[in-house]
Amino acid sequence: MSKKILVTGGLGYIGSHTAVQLIEHGFEPIIIDNLSESPIEVKDRIEKIVGRPVVFEKVEMCNKDEMNALFTKYPDLEGAIHFAAFLLVNESVEKPLKYYYNNLVSTINLLECMAAYKIRNVVFSSSCTVYGNPDKLPVSEDAPVKPAESPYGNTKKMSEEILRDTAATGAVDVISLRYFNPIGAHESGIIGEFQDGPPHHLVPYITETAIGKRPELKIFGGDYNTPDGTCIRDYIHVVDIADAHIYALNRMLQGKMEKSFEVYNLGTGEGYSVLQMVKAFEEATGIAIPYRIVDRRPGDVEAVYADTRLANEKLGWKAKYSLVDMLRSAWKFEQSLMHQ
Ligand code: UDP
Repeated sequence: MSKKILVTGGLGYIGSHTAVQLIEHGFEPIIIDNLSESPIEVKDRIEKIVGRPVVFEKVEMCNKDEMNALFTKYPDLEGAIHFAAFLLVNESVEKPLKYYYNNLVSTINLLECMAAYKIRNVVFSSSCTVYGNPDKLPVSEDAPVKPAESPYGNTKKMSEEILRDTAATGAVDVISLRYFNPIGAHESGIIGEFQDGPPHHLVPYITETAIGKRPELKIFGGDYNTPDGTCIRDYIHVVDIADAHIYALNRMLQGKMEKSFEVYNLGTGEGYSVLQMVKAFEEATGIAIPYRIVDRRPGDVEAVYADTRLANEKLGWKAKYSLVDMLRSAWKFEQSLMHQ
């Protein structure tokens, strides 16, 4: 029988791609989502890709009764991948309690249920935001944790601490995956980064400009201390990120963990500036992107890219998609939205 893995926030951007990869690797994802950030149609889209029905439960993780009912219904889970979280940096500054409450209470409720039902394995969706402006590049997992000033970043740091301290009691094992900048979409173009209103992230903004939904891309800051003055990030294909969860789960299920709480960077190790990304998109698609350099966006980190050696060595995982793959798939997804 397929191993059942709870996927919280499984209709979100990374959750939905991971659900597909889980099925393709013989797992049975039990997808939960409160539908606050993702439409239910993502479930249909996942089913279209995998060619069969998937298990979905609408669950509010902050509601302990709903969580208990879920674990009573699925007592035979082998583990959980915890994606569900609010993730808008700006909104978190305006509504810190909304972020602290949702992101922390959901994590605590999950851990309490897992401990009660003796389900050991947790993979956590963390972020390179915990490094803030790193002192050293590429940034490795032992770098100081000092998130750029935002309640969102703090919730990732605090969730890692909650998970680490719970793992230290022996109740669970945890692998925390610190994602750099996930972009792109499933090769089918059927799932990708769905959003309401103007995009917050660079690549969806580029693709919406390319398709004519936005008149131009605003580049936030051209006077950073980088070769072309724009910020540098480590962009990674969302399917590579999704795959890394399979490697993390297998490490846990095969009893290979060396500590009860392990942390891995998920990036390609390559840094690209905003201007390089615009140029790369133009080359990959042949479409010109009008852009204008405007003021810096408060809270942006100047440059961050990953030291990926630990994930390569311990998980046996390595990003395999190129920047062109990432940008072409993002563009395919944008075009598919247009033709619905
Ligand atoms: N960015 C930009 N214009 C946009 C969106 C993003 O210039 O419309 C820049 C942003 O300042 C940062 C980079 O693109 O330097 C990546 O931003 P994103 O929000 O995608 O990810 P972050 O690293 O901030 O989580």
